[in-house]
Parts: sequence; structure tokens; C-alpha cells
Amino acid sequence: QWKEDHLYSIIILGASGDLAKKKIYPTLWMLYRDGLLPQNTLFVGYARSKLSVNDLQKSFEANCKVQPGQEGKFQEFMKNNIYVSGNYDKAEDFKRLHVALDEKEAKVKAGNRVFYLSLPPFVFDVATTFIRKACWGTRGWNRVVLEKPFGRDLETSRKLSEHLKGLFKEEEIYRIDHYLGKELVQNLITLRFANRIFGPSWNTHNIASVMISFKEPIGTQGRGGYFDEYGIIRDIIQNHLMQIFCLAAMEKPVSLDAEDIRDEKVRVLRRIKPVKLEDTVLGQYIANPDGKNDDERTGYLDDETVPKGSVTPTFASVVLKIDNERWEGVPWILRAGKALNERKAEIRVQFKTPDGDIFPDDDAKRNELVIRVQPNEAIYLKMMTKTPNSHFGIEETELDLTYSKRYEGLVLAEAYQLLFLEILRGRQMHFVRADELEETWRIFTPLLHQIEKDKVKPIQYKFGGRGPPEADDLAADNNFMYTGTYKWPGHGSK
Ligand code: NAP
Ligand code: NAP
Repeated sequence: QWKEDHLYSIIILGASGDLAKKKIYPTLWMLYRDGLLPQNTLFVGYARSKLSVNDLQKSFEANCKVQPGQEGKFQEFMKNNIYVSGNYDKAEDFKRLHVALDEKEAKVKAGNRVFYLSLPPFVFDVATTFIRKACWGTRGWNRVVLEKPFGRDLETSRKLSEHLKGLFKEEEIYRIDHYLGKELVQNLITLRFANRIFGPSWNTHNIASVMISFKEPIGTQGRGGYFDEYGIIRDIIQNHLMQIFCLAAMEKPVSLDAEDIRDEKVRVLRRIKPVKLEDTVLGQYIANPDGKNDDERTGYLDDETVPKGSVTPTFASVVLKIDNERWEGVPWILRAGKALNERKAEIRVQFKTPDGDIFPDDDAKRNELVIRVQPNEAIYLKMMTKTPNSHFGIEETELDLTYSKRYEGLVLAEAYQLLFLEILRGRQMHFVRADELEETWRIFTPLLHQIEKDKVKPIQYKFGGRGPPEADDLAADNNFMYTGTYKWPGHGSK
């Protein structure tokens, strides 16, 4: 698939930063180690810091987890690294980078460039301007990769989109939402459209409600300053959960082509009205004096980097309704929170009970299809079965596809690994298009502005719990039924 006489340069802008050392370089190393990258790949670090390749190596080597026996390969990987120091707002610095790339590309038939902006968002504008003006390759393709945040509301996001549109073609822009690189998120399309059983039941006639959850058991850990500017809705719901939502709710695309899939995502988003405050529960965590570590004993407002009296939500549950034939009347509950009792991301599709129930005492419980994105990837369908050896007793059980059991020994690729390969292949299916962003911001911006303008007070919840009980009430009011009767035997795993 790769051209041997091409050079592929992966240029990391902000190579001295946190994301670069934690994620980007380790991912590139793993891809290199496993022989998945083009033979001629050049890794180019760019940042203002004056660093040598050696310094750079020191910053990320520990995160690469180089195993005994792989040292030689790692050195080989490092030999394909160069570093150029320069500013993000100076054409001449980008020109120097361009010349350095040109020199390398002169030896081959064509040179392709991936510009990965691992930079604070306020540098996006200047950096992209100069990339385009002073560093654009002329002997192959160029692609620009951006990380969230893509603006902080409809207006700022639009501004960024307009700016990018003035410089690049949409096919050249790769907006990362790393949830789209997760195996079980990608599997939604297969699950829904390659199985006859789900197609006919995936609608308002059979589904009562859908809950999409993101929970994490950690607080801000002293870095609340950054988080406070965004809050949980911008940090998790407007992007990650909405991307999952789109894949679960959209109509069947005409083909698996990236544009066909993204067209359907936009179409379903267009049928959603902006979220209202009354369809929302907002929370903010407080300390748990009995917590087992400092993080748990520190409330959000106790984090010294968080502004005093901040009303930024660290938990939110919002209800969306889709105004189309398939989903009329089905509530979609999107719930995300920090400092909760567990780490998990999942989609929970709750089916209606059978019509004309012949079982006494309302014994038949709702079927639930649970797609657990992380951790311990699994898909399970909660269903009723006859209690073994009984006359007609019925009880809850499950059809269970736990990846670690079904695919024993298989290591699932990390989201970033997969996304990098897609960028190099030029496949945009797992990246966010400008109009998707526009629509998701349209849905959340009025709510976000109201929260900020009216300083809407979030409900306090204790670190380590399930979040505010009001969120369970909101779910119950929106046709999500919890009976507490389901028991998972465990088989040694969660
Ligand atoms: P970062 O460490 O704060 O910044 C990356 C680099 O940008 C720094 O090493 C610095 O390099 C340069 N920089 C920092 N402040 C600057 C300023 N005021 N003006 C000009 N340059 C400045 O950021 P990051 O955490 O790596 O994140 C990079 C991007 O990924 C951001 O858009 C972030 O929102 C996104 N992101 C990060 C994570 C994460 O886990 N860190 C997760 C998801 C998304 P020099 O000073 O050497 O030029
Ligand atoms: P569950 O315990 O019946 O929970 C179902 C849903 O109800 C969850 O979304 C839960 O929220 C919510 N809930 C819990 N307490 C509530 C309350 N008091 N009021 C309102 N809602 C409440 O079923 P489950 O989570 O599907 O399964 C139970 C356990 O078995 C889980 O740990 C699951 O991972 C495990 N299991 C594992 C597999 C597998 O690995 N293959 C298969 C089946 C089950 P929260 O999300 O906040 O908890």
C-alpha cells in the first residue's frame, strides 16, 4: 500500500509537549516496531525549545516501553528522527523546516507530509497559516492533523473552520477524536449493519431509551485550571459521546465510504434541537473525607488551580431527542463524569418489554444491549431465560461477547495507532468533518452559554460515588429503567 520510492514525513509541531511525549512518539515507535509504517518514514519534531534528538528521546523513551531485545530496533527508530527548533509565528522558521524536508525529499520520487499540531489551541491559527505559506510540500500530498478543542462554542468553532477552510481542502484536514479510533466504537457500524437481528429492532418501536456513559474515577489531580475553562460537556460530551451517539443513531450509510458515513452522521445531528437546561443534570464533585488517597480527599474547588467559586460542571447528564421517523420519542441520555466510582465508557440500549406478556407478575425485564468501549471490551445482551429445572420461572441472563475470552491473547490496537495509519492511508472515516462539528456545537452552545451567563450551580456529589442521584431521576423520567435485579456471575472478570 505504501510507495517505496516516496518519503513520508510525520511532522510533530509541539514535539516538546505533553501529548507528544505521552502519546504521539510512543505510538509512532510502536507502529515502527511492528513494521506497520512505510519503509521511508521520517519523524520530524518541531517546537520552540532548543532540543537535540537525544533530549527528545529522553523525554519520551520511558513511555515507549522498549522491551529487552528491542533496543536495536529502537535505535534504528531514533535514527529516523530529526528535530528542528522554530517559532509558530515566524515564516522564516517554517521555511527552514521546509528546506530541511525538501533536502530529504530530493532523494526520492515524491515526498508526503503529515503536519500534526500537538499545540495549545491558541497557536492553531498562526501555525496553520505558516505551514500553508512556508512549509507546504510540492512533491506529494500534505495532511494536517488537529487535536481538540475545536473551538469552545459554535462561534469560535466556526471561526476556526473558516480559517482552516481558507488554507486547506477538507480532504487535507484530519480532526482527531480518539474515541473514533476505539475498536468497539468502530464496531458499531458492523454490529448494526452486518447483523440482520439488530436492523429491524433498532428503532422507536422496540427501543425504550439509550444511555451513553463515560465515567472516570479520578479528579483533576491538581490540573483543574485547564479543565475549568472547558468543563465536562466540552471535554467529553460534545465530542466523544456525540461521536458515539452518531454511529449508534444514524441511518445506514450508502456505502462504507468516509463521506457517506459522515453524511449520515450530519443528517441525524440535524434532527436534534439544542439541549435545554431542564433536560440536564449538572454536578461538581466534593471531597470524600474517607477517600483512600489525596485525590479522593480533594474536592474540585479544593484544587488550587481551579478558580474560587467555579461552577464548571465535572458531571453532566443530558437528554437528546431525535426528531425523525426512526427515533421519535426515544430519549438518548448522555452522561459523563469525573471522580466517580469506576472507569468505563459504554453504550446501553434498553429495549421495550414484549407486548402481550404471558408471564405472570411482570417478570420479563427489559433486554439491554451493552457495548462496553472500555475497559475490558465487551458486548453483552441482557435477556430473559427459563430458570433451569423450574416449571416456568424466568430469570435474567446474558449473551456474552467478552473480547478477552473470545479473542484470547489478542492485543487490541490503541486508538492512536489505528488513527495514524488511517491518516497515512488518506482515509477520513474516523475523523471529524467540519459540518459534524458545526452541528454538535449548535446542539450544546445555548446550554453552555446559559450555564456561564447564569452561573448555574451544579449539584454537589461525593468523590467515588455514582454522581448526583438527580441524574438517576432524570434517566428514570426518560424511560431508562433500573430494577437492580440483574446479577452478573463474574467468571473472575468485571
Ligand atoms: P502542551 O504540552 O501545553 O503544549 C505543547 C507544546 O506547545 C509545548 O511543549 C510548547 O512547546 C508549545 N507551547 C506551549 N505553550 C505555548 C504558548 N503559549 N505559545 C506557543 N507555544 C506554546 O500541550 P499538550 O498537552 O501536548 O497538548 C497538545 C494538543 O493536544 C492541545 O491541543 C491539547 O488540547 C490536545 N490534547 C492533549 C491531550 C494530552 O493528554 N496532553 C489530550 C487530548 C488532546 P515549545 O515551547 O517548545 O514550542
Ligand atoms: P446493572 O448493575 O443492572 O446496571 C445497569 C445500569 O443501571 C447501569 O447503567 C447503572 O449505572 C445503572 N444503575 C445502577 N444503580 C442504579 C440506581 N441505583 N439507580 C439507577 N440506575 C442505576 O447492570 P450492568 O452494569 O450491565 O451489569 C452489572 C455488572 O456486571 C457490571 O459490573 C458489568 O460490567 C458486569 N457484566 C460484565 C459482563 C462482561 O464482562 N462481559 C457482562 C455482563 C455484566 P452505572 O453505569 O452508573 O453503574
